Amino acid sequence: MSRYRLEPTASQEAVLRDHCAHARFIWNLAVEQQSWWRPGRRSAPGYLEQARQLTAARAEYGWLRAGSQMVQQQALRDFAQALANFFVGTHRRPTWRKAGRDEGFRIVAVKPAHVRRLSRNTGEVWIPKAGWVRLRWSRAVPEGVKSHRVSLDRAGRWHIAFAAIPEAIPAPGTGEVVGVDRGIAVSAALSTGQMLTVPRPSLARQRRFRRLQRKLARARGGSNRRARVKLAIAKLRAREADARKDWAEKTSTDLARRFDVIRVEDLNIRGMTRSAKGTITEPGRNVRAKAGLNREIMRSGWGLLVRRLQDKAPGRVEKVNPAFTSQRCSACGHIAAGSRESQALFCCVACGHACNADVNAARNIAAGHAVTARGGDGTTRPVNREPQLLAS
Ligand SMILES: [Zn+2]
Repeated sequence: MSRYRLEPTASQEAVLRDHCAHARFIWNLAVEQQSWWRPGRRSAPGYLEQARQLTAARAEYGWLRAGSQMVQQQALRDFAQALANFFVGTHRRPTWRKAGRDEGFRIVAVKPAHVRRLSRNTGEVWIPKAGWVRLRWSRAVPEGVKSHRVSLDRAGRWHIAFAAIPEAIPAPGTGEVVGVDRGIAVSAALSTGQMLTVPRPSLARQRRFRRLQRKLARARGGSNRRARVKLAIAKLRAREADARKDWAEKTSTDLARRFDVIRVEDLNIRGMTRSAKGTITEPGRNVRAKAGLNREIMRSGWGLLVRRLQDKAPGRVEKVNPAFTSQRCSACGHIAAGSRESQALFCCVACGHACNADVNAARNIAAGHAVTARGGDGTTRPVNREPQLLAS
């Protein structure tokens, strides 16, 4: 994905915000319809029926009609795709989009004439109802772009991402298999013994983050001060997110180049896809802001890494059942909880083999067998978003 900063004028920004609001509204409507569906009931409306409903809704509501039909229709298509991804088992169930957090919309049927370069560092892109919007030409826009997504991050920055799936990298042909373990102390350990670490914010930045969190806790709701602190936090987070994306791009390219087969744990089976913010019974909020930030960084870095690996090494990434990968001895195969000496050290109680715990797990993953594409029987999928189902 090639991402560029977008620099709309004030009046264009108003149009873009409307597009975002419409896309969010349509998406959430689709989420709501879907959340009512249960096995045994008549199926929830699919894309075609929803598209018909959208046409009817536009005829009825002026504010919806005033917006771009393409933006609204595409929100439905995106939802249908998200749902398909969920059923295949590669993504989480699509959830509610919140104002100010998941803002964005997609434009399709983009023609070459819709993107043009103005000078060395600036270009323009044509966006329905907004017209020509400036963008920072930070690198060449990929050729043959068919669609793009415009988004607004929490720091108030507009971006445009041109959908271009990264080109597949040819396998080296050495027959080498690598296992990648998502560690706690290190972000990822390879079965070769190499450790990969997602860039973490510097200590100074972590301190600043904690200070801002405390400030936020003290600031009165709705005050200007609170808004300022929130923006500062969002900017800090946005910078970390950029560093993470960069890391995932470089690391995935490197792995796809070096190994024929890349095995990772299938985390859907483990069902560990809940938000870092904690659950209702155990809200994580600001209690452990630092730990929360680190966890979040590692988690999102991991998901992105796996997605990029699948783009760049199609058919060469295998997902492995994660059961016992941290308790099995990679040398003799003995499984014992007691072999996990500490977070960092693995020492087999049967054969005495000792090594870094994450590397041991990575070796088990490298030796593991791929699970089916659907990933288990689906019983461990997160379901706590939906209303409680009464016995029937
Ligand atoms: Zn052993």
